[in-house]
Amino acid sequence: MERRTRRPRPTVHSATVHSIEDLSPNVRCIRIAGDDLKSIAWSAGQKVKIKVSDWLRSYTPARIDTDHGWMDIVFHLHGNGAASQWAATATVGEAIQFVGPTNSIPGAEGVPDWALFLGDETTIGLAAALLESLPESVHKLGAIEVDAEDEGAVAAFGVPLSATVRTGEHGQALLTWLNNTTLPAGSGMIWVSGEALSARALREALMERNPPDIQFKLKAYWSSKGHAHRKALEKEQAAAAKA
Ligand SMILES: Cc1cc2nc3c(=O)[nH]c(=O)nc-3n(C[C@H](O)[C@H](O)[C@H](O)COP(=O)(O)OP(=O)(O)OC[C@H]3O[C@@H](n4cnc5c(N)ncnc54)[C@H](O)[C@@H]3O)c2cc1C
Repeated sequence: MERRTRRPRPTVHSATVHSIEDLSPNVRCIRIAGDDLKSIAWSAGQKVKIKVSDWLRSYTPARIDTDHGWMDIVFHLHGNGAASQWAATATVGEAIQFVGPTNSIPGAEGVPDWALFLGDETTIGLAAALLESLPESVHKLGAIEVDAEDEGAVAAFGVPLSATVRTGEHGQALLTWLNNTTLPAGSGMIWVSGEALSARALREALMERNPPDIQFKLKAYWSSKGHAHRKALEKEQAAAAKA
């Protein structure tokens, strides 16, 4: 009989909430610290799974300092789920567990001439990690769509992108931003993330332009139609990438 090899259980790391900074009313950076963070390997774009009581949710380390043992995570306080609720009420000194980091959306291969990032509030940390991993010589552009009251969050976290204020449907402001933007010449890296349907619409708008010499990576972070919908879109994306 064929034996199944069991996947090794992921290591659960323990840490504490070190500090909390409100970047805007609904966007908050939580610094998580502890000795476990001194011994982890990390590259920009990877995710961790935060574990509180009986749930696990994916989040993106925006910055990690393994010398001093901390990571910053930027939470969108969307007010609708356990993780958002936890982040909204977290207190300094509180214990937290997490799994990872593990791969999620890859960084650029080589050094492109320019890098474009499009996403929403959930991707402020991702944008910081990916863009900060590139040399200063790379021309960085893009936009993060936010609610009007959160417009200051992008600059407050030091992300060198425009904040576009959400007007109609989720993602519409990003499409408008893209329509008004000329892609630079030379080799490009494009990352699209955030809400699943918005990310798909942005991919279509970008591909219609048929930009030459680009690397393109998309990762849906959540779906307005729930987890199962996000997973289904991921499968569709993986199939499209293979075709
Ligand atoms: C690889 C990866 C990395 C991620 N990194 C980050 C990160 O760094 N920061 C971050 O804020 N999020 C991040 N996310 C998104 C985050 O995991 C989801 O938003 C998650 O659903 C939040 O869990 P929850 O318990 O708050 O809500 P859930 O219990 O999962 O969902 C409850 C309801 O809220 C809705 N919902 C979920 N997220 C949002 C939202 N942002 N806005 C409005 N409605 C929402 C869902 O559609 C659902 O109806 C990441 C996701 C992935 C896949």
